[in-house]
Amino acid sequence: MEAEQLRRILRRIDGKGYKAYKDIQGTYRFSGYQLFIDHVQGDPFASPSRLRVRLLHSTAGFPVELYANPVRKTALADYLARRVHQSIRSMAKQRRGTGKSGLITIDAGGQEVLERTALKIDSEWLEARLYVGLPAAGRTILGRQAEEIFFQDLPAMVQKSLLWENLHPEEVYHFVFTVENQEFIRRRLKTHRLIAFVANGAILPRESGASDRPMASREAVPFRSPSSLEVTFRLPHPIDAPGGRQHILSGMGIPEGITLIVGGGYHGKSTLLNAIERGVYPHIPGDGREYVVTRADAVKIRAEDGRRVEIVDISPFISTLPYGRSTRTFCTDDASGSTSQAANILEALEVGARVLLLDEDTSATNFMIRDARMQALVHKDREPITPFIDRVKELYQRFGVSTILVMGGSGDYLDVADTVIMMHNYLPEDVTPAAREVARTYPTQRKIEIPEPLEHITERIPLASSFDPSRGKKEVQIQVKTPDRIQFGVHSIELRAVEQLVDMSQTRAIGYAIYLATRLFMDGSCTLREVLEKLEQFLDTKGLDCLDPFRRAEQHPGSFARPRRFEMAAAINRLRTLRMKQKP
Ligand code: ADP
Ligand code: MG
Repeated sequence: MEAEQLRRILRRIDGKGYKAYKDIQGTYRFSGYQLFIDHVQGDPFASPSRLRVRLLHSTAGFPVELYANPVRKTALADYLARRVHQSIRSMAKQRRGTGKSGLITIDAGGQEVLERTALKIDSEWLEARLYVGLPAAGRTILGRQAEEIFFQDLPAMVQKSLLWENLHPEEVYHFVFTVENQEFIRRRLKTHRLIAFVANGAILPRESGASDRPMASREAVPFRSPSSLEVTFRLPHPIDAPGGRQHILSGMGIPEGITLIVGGGYHGKSTLLNAIERGVYPHIPGDGREYVVTRADAVKIRAEDGRRVEIVDISPFISTLPYGRSTRTFCTDDASGSTSQAANILEALEVGARVLLLDEDTSATNFMIRDARMQALVHKDREPITPFIDRVKELYQRFGVSTILVMGGSGDYLDVADTVIMMHNYLPEDVTPAAREVARTYPTQRKIEIPEPLEHITERIPLASSFDPSRGKKEVQIQVKTPDRIQFGVHSIELRAVEQLVDMSQTRAIGYAIYLATRLFMDGSCTLREVLEKLEQFLDTKGLDCLDPFRRAEQHPGSFARPRRFEMAAAINRLRTLRMKQKP
């Protein structure tokens, strides 16, 4: 339909009851773009109406090289969603009405750059997926205000944020190429036998504990690599500005193996580890961590008492429980600090983690250390825990699993570390030789107590019947209202301890991905790892747009961002009804 048709409908329903808004559902031709009104909300307080704005590339005019490969496409789409977000933010504030009247939103990202449904770039077109609160006073339609949204705000938004000619080319190129540079480094890490890279000049600390934005530059001490750990990359794109000259980037390379981050309290140890954790995702220019790059298979591990555990073989770390109960098929509804940390490690390894990131601040002490005195007092017969310190080398030597560990409180780990980094006044020093010397001069006297070698990581097969997404009359109800919780049917999946989940739309995607996996891939013989591989393949080929099983045809897909397999596994593992069987 022509756009004017929409105007006529709005004038006709002005002042009528809210339900009459349903009449505007449909597709409208505006000058330069198409508007799809996919879903109209039932009342002013319901979740807002969903619509899409689609421009042909021939109209939008973006240079093809900006979306010529998947990395650039994700980056450009992410950038444009942010532009749209900026241009509509000011508009909504001016309007008044009941409920979410006049509110226009898009699911733009935070500090990380993720594949997301908010803005899609197809071969022919690009499309912004929006939410609009259709304006009303009480339950009475405010047609004139709606007209303003469709005939002033949205056209202005398109002009400002979706036309190449109105954007700053340098800014767009810089954004897209900064992301591509990060992925370039990530791909090189393995060949350099590194697990993470932290660029000189990076700003690691955040504004506050509640904000993910960088600390103001006058307060933050920029990162500077110790010379012994410095590595240099020649990047495909300049790092200073598009068309700039600076392609060379140096910084600290953390080698494979076991790395200890030591140093006094409050000297920046956890801040460094947190930046490395987030480095599995690309960051926006200006984040400060845009050149902190970590291997994609790195997983943060912490203690998480109270979580449920479903037949995980935790025997490598915890041999028997009181009264001789076995830990090869360990189940609990209420794990302790040490058993939860053991389960977190084995579950991560089960689905392919090859780098473990641990912080003393969030670890169970008895899981991490058992010193000589305790070994003397509590005989090994009476201590079921094989502490992490006695397995960490084995993990590397047998399975190629590297570890970065923040440990300011116990020197025992000096014996097993390949690299020791000391944080001092927020700056790293390579103290590996000194640490070796200390380890020689002050032997700990502790014995390595490994009951038996770690032979293999047990895999498990999830049983689809243990997932029930239904609630009341609804066959499927999956809701996400906070980043760290999925409401899956009547059960809630608690994800507060899953620290590399960074975006609520990732959480939402996980909720739907689990449901999808139960229907398509959990056949009673696929292991969890295989299920996740299939799920990732599905997301690679079909895209996030296909996650909502109730989406009709090409309609607005909802707000999703791409999760990693490790966080999908973490959510499955935390479902309290989950049943698995171990693969023989
Ligand atoms: P640790 O783990 O060594 O005890 P943290 O990493 O928690 O220390 O850091 C302590 C405080 O120092 C935090 O408030 C953090 O924001 C701040 N901080 C960390 N790194 C820097 C830095 N490079 N510049 C300025 N402040 C920093
Ligand atoms: Mg700390």
